[in-house]
Amino acid sequence: MKYADLHIHTSYSDSTFSPQEVVSYAKSKALSAISICDHDSIDGIEQCQESGAQLDIEIIPGIEMTVEKPDAEIHILGYFIDWKKDWFQKKLKEIQAARIDRVYKMVEKLKKMNIDMDAADIFKLSGKGSIGRLHVAQAMLKAGVIKNYNEAFSKYIGFRKPCYVPNIKFSPQEAIETLLKVGGVPVLAHPHLMGRDDYITELVKYGLRGIEVYHTDHKPGTTRHYEEVAKTQGLLMTGGSDCHGMGKGRVLIGSVRVPYELVERLKEESEKIRNEYR
Ligand code: AMP
Ligand code: ZN
Ligand code: FE
Ligand code: FE
Repeated sequence: MKYADLHIHTSYSDSTFSPQEVVSYAKSKALSAISICDHDSIDGIEQCQESGAQLDIEIIPGIEMTVEKPDAEIHILGYFIDWKKDWFQKKLKEIQAARIDRVYKMVEKLKKMNIDMDAADIFKLSGKGSIGRLHVAQAMLKAGVIKNYNEAFSKYIGFRKPCYVPNIKFSPQEAIETLLKVGGVPVLAHPHLMGRDDYITELVKYGLRGIEVYHTDHKPGTTRHYEEVAKTQGLLMTGGSDCHGMGKGRVLIGSVRVPYELVERLKEESEKIRNEYR
């Protein structure tokens, strides 16, 4: 059997693994294909493809886009995106610039709670990559102001916690349409995090094609529940580990995987989308 892990980050967002490390780790787990899904970034795809060609691992160009409703944090994955499109890359640069501003705002809010963080220390961790809250949490742990990442999110920077700052305004409809226009197959990431099943119908109306039923943070009951939702809504059931290298304490690549046939199904879907949106 051939398997794929369809949700992996690199150091071009908030993983501690370089593209080369991601691909060699995937090789050690005997995966046939992986999808690189950095937060609002495509910058790691090319290097992964170069390593993938050497180690005979198929690299599915992907992305994870953050969108928001006032009461929910939503991540939309896009598979088989035509990542070379200029207008798409320009849009991502705008989002990344806003992510930088957002870090300064989070530092300000932390200061008001008597937590003194130097933004430069956070930027050091993100390097050239798309910066995010995991970098903030990592810098906080390094500075010794929290005991573990969970504390950073549950007390300070988690969704709607006191130091939370939203990302650039980008609606679910805009994200799904953007992905469709670059031939990407839009998939709702870890639906459990969104926690609002009643939004799924709306996302499907905008063009959502799949739902990430299999995910590291899903308990067996959660998985069964979303399998049912996928069937009812007519959505593809995808899955991935959401590995962040050592960024969340342990390497997850390959711990959640799906049969390779799903990759073929996603490829077909992308072809259909490309014909439709050409
Ligand atoms: P951002 O894209 O900046 O909004 O950050 C989102 C990322 O923060 C997620 O992809 C995770 O990597 C991380 N994250 C969010 N909540 C938690 C949590 N409770 N524990 C650990 N990491 C988290
Ligand atoms: Zn992340
Ligand atoms: Fe996510
Ligand atoms: Fe992710």
